[in-house]
Amino acid sequence: METSEAEKEMREWCVALPKVELHAHLNGSVRNSTLLELAKELGDKGVIVFEDVKDVIMKNDRSLPECFRLFDLFHILTTDHDTVTRIAKEVVGDFAAENVVYLEIRTTPKNNEAKGMTKRSYMNAVVKGLKSVEDVDVVLFDSNLRNDETPMSDLSGDTKRKKIYVRLLLSIDRRETTSAALDTVNLAMEMKDQGVIGIDLSGNPVVGEWETYLPALEHAKDLGIPTTIHCGEMKLELSEQQVPNRKEIQAMLDFCPQRLGHVCCLDDEEWKKLKSSMIPVEICLTSNVMTGGAPSLELHHFADLYNAKHPLSICTDDSGLFSTSLSNEYYLVASTFGLSKTELFRLAQGAVEFVFADDEVKKSLRAVFERAAAETLAS
Ligand SMILES: [Zn+2]
Repeated sequence: METSEAEKEMREWCVALPKVELHAHLNGSVRNSTLLELAKELGDKGVIVFEDVKDVIMKNDRSLPECFRLFDLFHILTTDHDTVTRIAKEVVGDFAAENVVYLEIRTTPKNNEAKGMTKRSYMNAVVKGLKSVEDVDVVLFDSNLRNDETPMSDLSGDTKRKKIYVRLLLSIDRRETTSAALDTVNLAMEMKDQGVIGIDLSGNPVVGEWETYLPALEHAKDLGIPTTIHCGEMKLELSEQQVPNRKEIQAMLDFCPQRLGHVCCLDDEEWKKLKSSMIPVEICLTSNVMTGGAPSLELHHFADLYNAKHPLSICTDDSGLFSTSLSNEYYLVASTFGLSKTELFRLAQGAVEFVFADDEVKKSLRAVFERAAAETLAS
């Protein structure tokens, strides 16, 4: 398809726009080139058959079953501490390169006795990766805010070093037991001074039951740790599963987490409840269309929530897996729903209010957007 000048200009504008990313899974955000290289190494070692995954990695438009094959590959790759460190480093660099100024990365801490990996050592490997980013300034700890005078990346070009705030969310996988989920919450508490600021509930939506994770989510609430929950992610195929799914969506809304991810498949009553709750929603357009949570971009529930002035933030979910970027997601909002540059800017700016980081970080981010507004909205 031919790219028009107007499209090119809009895409560049979306890259230059300062952005806040609140829903990005570490593993799903890995670069294809890295994935290919790591898969090749595993193939050479005889752990996997490289040829089996090569085509899927090279592909930009993956089907859902192909995405699941890549999940299996991520699972094998992330049993190695050095690989986890490398992935974390690259993912932060990639988001910073497209002018993401604040990033919350979520990841499931893994226990793997055979590989000498504990949830703690896995997270240490992630933090090591964040600390080893060289070409941009990563602000990971609150204590770094003392000398916070460095200007953030701006819209005027590449002359200034980019700066990105990074925070971590620990994910509870729906396959986990209550006790494993509680371990994750306790680990989040332990790693509070290392940039861990929240808990996420995610994983295969047809697996597990709400009652299993509720004690851990309640524990997080008691400890004052903010939570975000993957809610109503996709339609469940089997009719008997739709009943517990409805019950689960109700329970999730009743729990009142600080944010919700996706909320694709709600019924009328649940929409009403969501809208009156004003719980901010992490919107992942490409992901929802690719996984069948939304029938198409045009019919995505973004429009309904946006028109209702519901708090929203645009996110990627898995930029590597779904071959997208946060800039591209903003471009899709503009091209699908006809938002103007001013409206897109306000959407990006609005996400600052839903970050889990403290007020000092919010203040700095508000200033970034105020400076950027003066430059970008004047023209
Ligand atoms: Zn997600």
